[in-house]
Amino acid sequence: MNLTGNLLIGAQETGATTGSMKALNPATNLSIEPSFAFGGASEVDRAAHLADDAFDSYNNTSLEVRAAFLERIADGLDAIASELAQRASLETGLPVAQLEGEAAKSATQFRQFATVVRQGRFRQATIDPAQPSRQPRPRMDHRMQKIALGPIAIFGASNFPISYSVAGGDTASALAAGCPVILKAHNGHPGASEIQGRVIQQAVKDAGLHEGVFSLLRGDGNEIGEALVEHPLIKGVTFTGSEGGGMALFRRAQLRPDPIPVFTEMTSVNPTFVLPSALFSRGKDIGDGFAERMLVTVGQACLKPAILLAIDGIGFSEMKQALIARIEAMHARTMLTPGIATMYRRNVDRQLSAGAQQIAMGGEPQGTWDGQSFLFEVDGARLLETPSLSEEVFGPAALLVRVKDIDQMVAIARHFRGQLSATMQIEQADHALAARLLPILERRTGRIVINAFAHPQEVSDASIHGGPFPATSDSRFTSVGMSAIERFLRPVCYQGFPDELLPEALRHDNPRGLWRLTDGALSKA
Ligand code: NAP
Repeated sequence: MNLTGNLLIGAQETGATTGSMKALNPATNLSIEPSFAFGGASEVDRAAHLADDAFDSYNNTSLEVRAAFLERIADGLDAIASELAQRASLETGLPVAQLEGEAAKSATQFRQFATVVRQGRFRQATIDPAQPSRQPRPRMDHRMQKIALGPIAIFGASNFPISYSVAGGDTASALAAGCPVILKAHNGHPGASEIQGRVIQQAVKDAGLHEGVFSLLRGDGNEIGEALVEHPLIKGVTFTGSEGGGMALFRRAQLRPDPIPVFTEMTSVNPTFVLPSALFSRGKDIGDGFAERMLVTVGQACLKPAILLAIDGIGFSEMKQALIARIEAMHARTMLTPGIATMYRRNVDRQLSAGAQQIAMGGEPQGTWDGQSFLFEVDGARLLETPSLSEEVFGPAALLVRVKDIDQMVAIARHFRGQLSATMQIEQADHALAARLLPILERRTGRIVINAFAHPQEVSDASIHGGPFPATSDSRFTSVGMSAIERFLRPVCYQGFPDELLPEALRHDNPRGLWRLTDGALSKA
C-alpha cells in the first residue's frame, strides 16, 4: 500500500495543516519515510460534522448491512496483514510474528462483532404490552431498545499497534453499536495507523455507507485530542494510555456544557498472590510462569503481572531463584517509543529510591531505546507504607514481595487500588485463604484468575477487561469482549406507538426473530 501520510477525513485525504512528523524506528533510532500530516481543530470540526451527518443513516442500517460492513473490514485486514505487521514492526520494535497475530486477532474481533450485530441481542429489546383493563389505571404499551450514542472519538493505544489501535476492539465495538468513529492515531505508529485507516475507509465506500462513518486524524501534542473531546458533536470517548493523559481528557469531558462519557483504560499492576500450599508444591514453576508472562512484549502490556506476593516459607527461595534466573537470561529489547523508554527508566529509579532492593538485572541495553529487565524485592511492611511501590512500571520490571503472614497478605490485598486483573496461585489446602481474599479482590479488580497468569486477553462473551479506578474510569464496562459494545449504547423507550412507527426490533411480528423480554419472559415471539 502506498502511504501518503495524509489525514483521512471521511472519503477525503487532507495534507498537513499544523505540521508533520516522520515515524521513528526505535530499534535503529532513525526516522522512516514518508512524512505524516498533523491536523488541528478545523480537521476535528470537519470530521465531527461528517460523523454527525452519517449518524442517522448508519445507526439505522439494517443489522445485516452493518454486520456485512464489519466483515468487509475483517477481510481487508486479512488481505494486508503481512504488510501491516511489517510496517508496525518497523515503527514499534515488536516482532513481526507477534504483530501478524495482532492483525489476525483484529480481523477476528470484527467478525465476532458482526455476529453480535446479526444476533441483535445488543438492542435488549424489551416489551411491556398495554394492559387496558389494569386497575386502578390502565398501562400503555411500553417498548425499549438500545440505540447508538452518537459519534465516538477513539484514542489509539501505543502498545498494541493493531488490536488496540485504529482497527482495534474499540473501533469494532463502536461501529457494531452504530456509532461513527473518529480515530486519533497514536504517533508511535503512524504508518501502521494509515494502513488500518485505509482498510476501514475502503470498507465504508464498498458498503455504500455515508463517508462520515470513519475518519482518521493525527496531531502534535494535546491540541487535537482536546479539540476532539470538547467538540459538541462528539458523544463519547475511549482512551488507552497513561493515567495522567486519561484523567486530563476525562476531566475535560466532564467540564463540557454537555458532559459525555469517557471510557479510559489506564494502569494496572495485576498482582499475583501465591498461597502457601501452592508455594510449597510449585514455587519454581510459579517463578518461571510469572517471569515469562511479565517479559512478554517487553513488559509493555496492560495485563503484565508486575507484583508477585508470597508468604515467606518453603518454596519462596525456589520461586525467587527461578525469577532471578529468567530475568538475568533476558537481553535488553527495543521499547515502543522514546517517551515510553524514558518513562520506564525513570520508574525503575523510582522503585529504587522508594526502598526496593534490586535482586536481578537482565542484559545491558545495546540500542538507544532498549529496555533492560529488572527484578526488585521488598517486604510486605515496606510495600504497605510506600504506596508508590504499588504503581505501574510500564516495561520489563517486576516486584517480589516477601509477606510476613496471612494477615499481612490480606492487608496488602486491601491496599491495592483498582486493577484490571488479579491472580491467585492455589492448591486445595489454600481454599480457605483464597475464600478470604476473594471478596477483597472482587472489589478491586475486573478479572480474577486462578492458577494462570492474566495475559493474554480472550475476546469472548464473558471477557472482562476493565476494573475500578485507576484501571479504568468506569468499572461498569469492559473494553475487550463482546459486551464492550454496551459502552456505546443508550436506552430509548417508545410508548403507545403504532406498529409501523416502531423500530424493527420492537415490531409486533418480530421480523428478525430477535430474543426479546416480553412481559418479563425471554422469547422470540
Ligand atoms: P499517553 O501519553 O497517555 O498517550 C495516549 C494518547 O493520548 C496519545 O495519542 C496522546 O497524544 C494522547 N494524550 C495523552 N494525554 C493527552 C492530553 N492531556 N490531552 C490530549 N491528548 C492526550 O500514553 P502512551 O503514549 O501510550 O504511553 C505513555 C505511558 O502510558 C506509558 O509509559 C505507560 O505508563 C502508560 N500506558 C499504559 C498502558 C496500559 O495499558 N496500562 C498502555 C499504554 C500506555 P500525544 O502522543 O500526541 O501526546
